[in-house]
Amino acid sequence: MPSDPVLPPPALRLRIDSGAIGANWQALDRMSGSADAGAAVKADAYGVGVDRAMPALLKAGCRNFFVAHWCEVPEVLQHTSGANISVLHGPTSQADGVFARDAGVRPVLNSLAQVRNWQATGGGACDLMVDTGMNRLGLRVEELGDSLLDGLEVEVLMSHLACADEDGPQSAQQLARFRDVLAKVPHRRASLANSAGLALGSEYAFDLTRPGLSLYGGIARPELAGRIRQVVTPQAAIIQTRTVPAGESIGYGGTYRAERDTRIAILSIGYADGYLRCWSGKGAFRHGEAVLPVLGRVSMDMTAIDISAAPHLAEGDWVDAEYDLAEASARTGLTQYELLTLSGPRLRG
Ligand SMILES: *Cc1c(COP(=O)(O)O)cnc(C)c1O
Repeated sequence: MPSDPVLPPPALRLRIDSGAIGANWQALDRMSGSADAGAAVKADAYGVGVDRAMPALLKAGCRNFFVAHWCEVPEVLQHTSGANISVLHGPTSQADGVFARDAGVRPVLNSLAQVRNWQATGGGACDLMVDTGMNRLGLRVEELGDSLLDGLEVEVLMSHLACADEDGPQSAQQLARFRDVLAKVPHRRASLANSAGLALGSEYAFDLTRPGLSLYGGIARPELAGRIRQVVTPQAAIIQTRTVPAGESIGYGGTYRAERDTRIAILSIGYADGYLRCWSGKGAFRHGEAVLPVLGRVSMDMTAIDISAAPHLAEGDWVDAEYDLAEASARTGLTQYELLTLSGPRLRG
């Protein structure tokens, strides 16, 4: 039998600073005052990878985790007991409720229909989402008197802020409505704030905060700048270098034309990896202190950079994408959330 072919190492990777995830959680936990900070680990921990994020979060002291879909539960369960996991989309069928019970995770009930699904499968500890003005998921305040809720065992009573990353009246309005809700529905713990919300002040923290973005390096509000460390850096290997003679163009569409003979490198990263075409002519990579601008259009699997600032670079050398999330968002028009969750499968490895 021939032995299995040995796969050579990849030519691109997402560098994850696990220490920064832990430090970010601790900073957010401190900002939450007497409340505990939880962690949103949905969407594969915002593209960072549940397998990387969970150990770092647990080591830092985090004990409450939020996913969106039921299919995200098994991977998170490999790291912690179900009692600490809440599923934000809730039981849209009785099958979801049965799964929640078997896995020992808590469903977040978002409507009277979901309350019915949960009760029909036996009820028990659950979380309850109330809509205080976002009109996404959650029971309307007027529905809270429904007898279906009698005896419901609510562990975390929660709502979600729609505009916490902006300055405006809506967060304070939602806060006031949430306080009314707390008086109406028996519960063990209350939770309102996401990353931006917990930066609004201690009155938003209640018993449990639910940061996601800022765990992974996002600056959800200016108050978080200087307290949150970058977590994610896309890195790519150079697969070819060449000198482009003055007057010739580079890449699809020939959108960049060399004014002088230019030393360039072709990187093994492209829009299929989440390094989208909006970086064309705008992005930059780094090698040490040298800044290496993106030239021409980003292709599906490749990106050309100017290596004039580091002409010794050769095939096989690695470079780091400039990926400070706040700055990258300003430059590309993508949100910090998109910049994190975009990463493609080859990049995540
Ligand atoms: C995703 C999510 C969070 C985390 O929000 P960030 O803005 O990423 O901090 C918190 N709560 C709910 C209900 C969510 O859906």
